[in-house]
Amino acid sequence: RLQQRIHGTTLEINLNALTHNYNFYKKLLFPKTKVMVMVKAFAYGGGALEIANQIQTMGADYLGVAFSDEGVALRKQGIKLPIMVLNAMQESFGLCSKFDLEPVVFSSEFFESLAAWCTIHQQKMKIHLDMDTGMHRLGFEEKHLSELKNLIQANPQLEIASIYTHLVGADEEVHQEFSISQLKSFEEIKNQILQVLSYKPLIHALNSAGIVAFPEFQFDMVRLGIGLYGVEVTGKHEMALRAISTLKTTISQIKELNPGETIGYSRKGVLSSGGKIATLAIGYADGYDRRFSNGKGYVLINGHKAPIIGNVCMDMCMVDVSGMDVKAGDEAIIYGEKISLKELADQIGTIPYELLTNISTRVKRVYY
Ligand code: PLP
Repeated sequence: RLQQRIHGTTLEINLNALTHNYNFYKKLLFPKTKVMVMVKAFAYGGGALEIANQIQTMGADYLGVAFSDEGVALRKQGIKLPIMVLNAMQESFGLCSKFDLEPVVFSSEFFESLAAWCTIHQQKMKIHLDMDTGMHRLGFEEKHLSELKNLIQANPQLEIASIYTHLVGADEEVHQEFSISQLKSFEEIKNQILQVLSYKPLIHALNSAGIVAFPEFQFDMVRLGIGLYGVEVTGKHEMALRAISTLKTTISQIKELNPGETIGYSRKGVLSSGGKIATLAIGYADGYDRRFSNGKGYVLINGHKAPIIGNVCMDMCMVDVSGMDVKAGDEAIIYGEKISLKELADQIGTIPYELLTNISTRVKRVYY
């Protein structure tokens, strides 16, 4: 509450809700299936260290980050779980080695340069193989398989900790068939790689939506992201999850307006019959998307919906509170338990992932 009085806006993170969501997914898994928790992008805005600490205590098996520096920060703050790095830059191989981070290898060129680095520095490294079965982002394709197998055999300094693929649309009904074809071709591909190994790496393919949609393909591990953070993207178990984050701000001022007066930049906000507006201490620099301007978004004040009126400004925005009993200092909920992130994201043509990861670092995170 003190943080909110100083900055105006806070992101409250409920660690009990996080535990609840983690346990929900654990129940969908076989007891022996391992869980990698994706804590990339500041744990989807929730704060990588605190989330990693919590799930480390809860017994998760792996962490996933996008870039090496995200992993380094976790190591420096005492996180001990194995960490997979999705997109380790070649200049960060030294950091990966020093901080025990496990890069994803997605091409022969990458494999060769990491292998060469390890030879020169007399190091061994654990790596993860990304197999492209249709995402066409990063990853080895089927046509690279024989080259990959040769590289694996020629470079025992690189230990294959896991082999994985990523689904393009596990949360979308229309892409179910494509996802299944991805999973089947992955099964084929990983079997071929296993033939040249004398040990057994972890096999994984499913993200949050995949766990719900294709539990029969959980292999050895799953990669849990958005579901842990409270958004059930398939829509099948929406009520089972709890929102972990509540973005709250404060009313700075209330104004009574006459008919015809306009609100904010470019005079975009109009209350045709006049009314009352509240100015909130949050703007697009806090990650509150400007596309919520003029009725596209709303906030909750004392449980009532107040629509955004006028353009969202950099550090503030205005809401229509006509007829509501509100005063400066009252709290407004931007995202949280009673607000569907999916609906809000739909309103501005985006996805909950973007809303969560956009909350800027100047917004203080408060854990309870
Ligand atoms: N695995 C990979 C490779 C990813 O890039 C992501 C997130 O984008 C995830 C897993 C987690 O996905 P989700 O947040 O949908 O569970």
